[in-house]
Amino acid sequence: MKYCIGIDLGGTTVKFGVFTYDGVLIQKKEIPTRKECGRDVIFDDIAAAVRKIVQENSLDLNNCLIGMGIAGPVEDTGRVEVSVNLGMSAYYPGIELSRLLDNIPVYVLNDANAAALGEMWKGGGRGHKNMILITLGTGVGSGVIIDGSVIHGTHGLGGEIGHIWVNPDEPDLCQCGGRGCLDQIASATGIVKYADRFLSRSDQFSTIRGIKNLSAKDVIDAAKSGDYLAMYTVNYCMEFLGKAIADITYVIDPEIILIGGGISKAGDFIREIIYDHYKNYPKIKKTLAPIELAQLGGDAGIYGAAFFARESSTSV
Ligand SMILES: [Zn+2]
Repeated sequence: MKYCIGIDLGGTTVKFGVFTYDGVLIQKKEIPTRKECGRDVIFDDIAAAVRKIVQENSLDLNNCLIGMGIAGPVEDTGRVEVSVNLGMSAYYPGIELSRLLDNIPVYVLNDANAAALGEMWKGGGRGHKNMILITLGTGVGSGVIIDGSVIHGTHGLGGEIGHIWVNPDEPDLCQCGGRGCLDQIASATGIVKYADRFLSRSDQFSTIRGIKNLSAKDVIDAAKSGDYLAMYTVNYCMEFLGKAIADITYVIDPEIILIGGGISKAGDFIREIIYDHYKNYPKIKKTLAPIELAQLGGDAGIYGAAFFARESSTSV
């Protein structure tokens, strides 16, 4: 029987998951991403960890299917132009890791796309073939799955909704060079920024006024407790997301929309707010899909990378 190893290469840690072919998680592991030591060291660390995992579980490396999710757009050729949070550019992560692992294939995909596949395989999207995962964290990430396949696109940018332009009134520049992207508004960073703005524009009492290093969780918790200004902020930010989701559902016609990332820890509270905005937009009500919470949390990436390796190896 073959086993799948899913790797999630992130800016601070590299996560590993060993799965049976059917997706039962056997072992999880995590090592620090030694960014300061450069690319070669990071890949040496990953290869060593894979060999250790293989040995600990008495597996044969040649019998393992390896997938890796990585930040940044992954081109058709496996080339990654830039992974900002890893400080790496113009590289072929699959080839580099494969060389260190007796040349067995390493299938690489974008980390947000991996998370979407993971949720479809074993998370909130089980049983569905058309879905979108939107992760609301520091930024807005997403992965789109159509007919069971994740959309990579021509430049590896397919399914990225974070830079859809939604707010023409946004004065600040987005990291992409635009102004008013969804990423700037519906993320944890966006919620805090807008709360600060609304606080500075009014003298109204608010329980979040004066909180040092205000977090999105502070704002959402205050909104849950009935704080007017906090609720106004959450509503304001999530309305843009609801409208964006409505636009996207016209293109994708999904069966389900999943919300993940740190903000989704607010549970049904945030899910219902997003849905209430979303449902107001499409006039063709048939396109309305349920919005549910993602279920795998930070493990979605290792599940998805493992699943991608399994699917990629059977399709060649
Ligand atoms: Zn942008």
